[in-house]
Amino acid sequence: MPLTADALDELRALLGPEGVLSEPAALFTYDADAMTLERVAPDVVALPRSTDEVAAVMLWARAHGLPVTPRGAGTGLAGGCTCETGGVSLSLNRMDRVLRVDHERLFAWVQPGLVNLWLSQQLAPAGLYFAPDPASQQVSTIGGNVSTNAGGPHCLKYGVTLNHVLGVTVVLEDGTSVTLGGEACDAPDFDLASVVIGSEGTTAVVTAVCVRLLPVPEDVQTMLFDFESVEDACHTVSRVIAEGIVPAAMEIMDRHTVGLVEAWLQMGLPTDAAALLLIEVDGPAVSLPAQVERIGAIAREWRARSRRVAKDAAERALLWKGRKSAFGAYGRTASGFYIMDGVVPRTKLAEALATIYRLAEARGLEAGNVFHAGDGNLHPHVLFDAKSERQQQDALEVSHEILRMCIRFGGTISGEHGVGIEKRPMMAELFGADDLAVMERVRAAFDPARRLNPGKILPGGAGCGEAHAHGRAPAQLGGTAFRPDAEGPWI
Ligand SMILES: Cc1cc2nc3c(=O)[nH]c(=O)nc-3n(C[C@H](O)[C@H](O)[C@H](O)COP(=O)(O)OP(=O)(O)OC[C@H]3O[C@@H](n4cnc5c(N)ncnc54)[C@H](O)[C@@H]3O)c2cc1C
Repeated sequence: MPLTADALDELRALLGPEGVLSEPAALFTYDADAMTLERVAPDVVALPRSTDEVAAVMLWARAHGLPVTPRGAGTGLAGGCTCETGGVSLSLNRMDRVLRVDHERLFAWVQPGLVNLWLSQQLAPAGLYFAPDPASQQVSTIGGNVSTNAGGPHCLKYGVTLNHVLGVTVVLEDGTSVTLGGEACDAPDFDLASVVIGSEGTTAVVTAVCVRLLPVPEDVQTMLFDFESVEDACHTVSRVIAEGIVPAAMEIMDRHTVGLVEAWLQMGLPTDAAALLLIEVDGPAVSLPAQVERIGAIAREWRARSRRVAKDAAERALLWKGRKSAFGAYGRTASGFYIMDGVVPRTKLAEALATIYRLAEARGLEAGNVFHAGDGNLHPHVLFDAKSERQQQDALEVSHEILRMCIRFGGTISGEHGVGIEKRPMMAELFGADDLAVMERVRAAFDPARRLNPGKILPGGAGCGEAHAHGRAPAQLGGTAFRPDAEGPWI
């Protein structure tokens, strides 16, 4: 049901005219995140500037019976901020300030729309930084990172976003605002902040975040190895960790990915290698040479053909550039591709990769891989011709088979991108009905009306009422479709 002019005027009175978007052309730009397969434009976009304004929007939406879907930068890869059932897209982008930094106690309060990288850039003169570093960090917001519990290359050593959030201020569905957790490292009450973190906007709207800060490591060493087999690269990863060395990052790119990146950037990468393994260690300068040497020895034992150690910051940035350009390289060659986000135990990496190639090949499709090898977090990409319905369907089925393989191998269906719309059907394959019912009850304790991001995460569950009220049924699909024409400024 379209919103009445009176209802829109009420919202403008709350947020000011520039805080409300209702023109179809503007709504069109909010109809998806980076998973462009599923597009639904919201009825209205609200752009609050404060916790009080978020609360006012929640009450306004409640009065008009509208669902509310929080949105950060829209870089999510699971359809999390897509307004599947219409209603309000609540964009937190105008709340993008660092509110307070405590240099002594090493925390900062920030607004949710702050871009991840901007925080570390602002902290750099003080020798501090925010550790979670999703590859989208130039664009994605702290609120989005908190709500998806984002990971990133350096989360192997430092942990995911959850490990770097001390507290959150949130607005609930009924417009109340509350702070969960806080500046102290531990509190005796139930850890409700941890329920909100990773709940993908289904429990509350995050309006401020107390983040833990770390001192910038004294020294960093970055190495690149190339292997004749992906298995040898994977064995090197397992061996390094088994020896008690925890690098800051361990990332693998397979031959397919290396070829595409090299064709694009001409960095001198060895395109005949079956896999490149990038390993970074950081910490006190005195501790690094021994780690570099031991890692080199392990890689040699697993038949690494060569090792390159970055001489300075410029060379380190170059080595990372190859890794971080992988998504863009896929976009240049295929008219469509699915990106998945599954996890397998590290010891199963080699077998998992062989299975992925086989599954894609069986349907005549190409698959590439670039992934956080240290924590077994795979990002298989299945390439397809976007003009071919058949290929698209095949790629979708391969993606489901890959996620099933992750479950079978003792892993899980999302390492960091979240469930959103994309992996919702797979939740019932990973969890039993009882588990899902408990999750639903936890969610309902926060949002009994199921008005916040309805229909996401739990299969066939919460929010369907709103969907029917708006005459739209939540879609059931899987896989993340990327098309070059839908690309943003990806790194
Ligand atoms: C090229 C590329 C690389 C990526 N690399 C990584 C990676 O290395 N690691 C990783 O984890 N992810 C990665 N992602 C996925 C994505 O960037 C992350 O999930 C990121 O955390 C999303 O942030 P965002 O600001 O774009 O949030 P959005 O996409 O806008 O929203 C994500 C979810 O959070 C909810 N949400 C957003 N803000 C709030 C809020 N203030 N309160 C409540 N709910 C909210 C939304 O409703 C939605 O469910 C990558 C994506 C791309 C395109």
